[in-house]
Amino acid sequence: MRIACAALALLLPAFPALAQNVKITPIGSHSGELCANDRAIIFEDPTGVRFLYDAAQNVTGGNDPRLGTIHLVLLSHMHGDHVGDLKLKAPGEGTCANSARVPAPNSTTAEVVAEKNAVLVTTRAMAGFIHNKVGAIRGSGGKPMDFCSTLAVTVPVPAACSSRIDLGGIFTAQAEGARQGVEFTNVYSEHVNDVAPSLLSKARQDLLKADGAQLGYGPPIGFVVKFTNGLVAYLSSDTAVFGDMKLVISDFHKANLAVINLGPNPGLFQSGAYAINDLLKPASVIFTHVNEAATEGGKLKANTQTAALMKQIKPPAHLAISERTMEFDGKGKCVSGC
Ligand SMILES: [Zn+2]
Ligand SMILES: [Zn+2]
Repeated sequence: MRIACAALALLLPAFPALAQNVKITPIGSHSGELCANDRAIIFEDPTGVRFLYDAAQNVTGGNDPRLGTIHLVLLSHMHGDHVGDLKLKAPGEGTCANSARVPAPNSTTAEVVAEKNAVLVTTRAMAGFIHNKVGAIRGSGGKPMDFCSTLAVTVPVPAACSSRIDLGGIFTAQAEGARQGVEFTNVYSEHVNDVAPSLLSKARQDLLKADGAQLGYGPPIGFVVKFTNGLVAYLSSDTAVFGDMKLVISDFHKANLAVINLGPNPGLFQSGAYAINDLLKPASVIFTHVNEAATEGGKLKANTQTAALMKQIKPPAHLAISERTMEFDGKGKCVSGC
């Protein structure tokens, strides 16, 4: 009897967790594929909090029908392929290696924030830039976008605002009636943060060009997101391998899912196996930002850099296939859609 009771006590808390999964839906250029320019991913907490991680060049604008409800927009850095200096002409147009895109002079990030009245989670330096762009979209007369009045908000917020945090800062977003919020921490990224020149004023572009210079907006960032079901996702953004992937991301934050940007520039095709197997040690991995047409018919192409890295990864690794929803439990295990 005592044994039966103990077994029941163990089972009960685990049972409701079965339905409590985090839904993760990449939105890229070609439905059902992982393409060269794909970066944007939508996350949905079991309490209903929904956010977009890097609007990138993957949306047709703030009104892209694939977005649905968006409470928050995360911005990792100011490179055009993240802040979004171009927008998708239409899903499926162009090739998987080079999707058809058109200019987005106010950035796709600002377009989504303005359209959804969303919270922008980023650093204060990058927030200032987006505040102005949202102002440009809305025109004069309206109240300028500003920082949210607190570091914990209930979503949806009454008016678009941004997190007043820098590296290490924590921002919390809670759904109405939920007992717990989703927690966002800005974390280190070993990268640069130069803005896409086409998003600057003509006068500034000319000045920079005269000196062969780039304009940086403070440090770029990654994110650690703590969901209400226990899932702790590390969103790497563009980064080289760095030692604090172990000391801070793994040991301190205890990330159990790593969403990793690949691509040639920060060298993760070469260092990714060490970063994941030895430093981060997550329960699962999602790969995106591959800068190559990684799949065809939804299947990983054998002769790709992504395929070569996948073979070296110890935890289950999943591709961020556009418009395919994956579900993760609190322990970082994919339980559906992978
Ligand atoms: Zn970058
Ligand atoms: Zn990038």
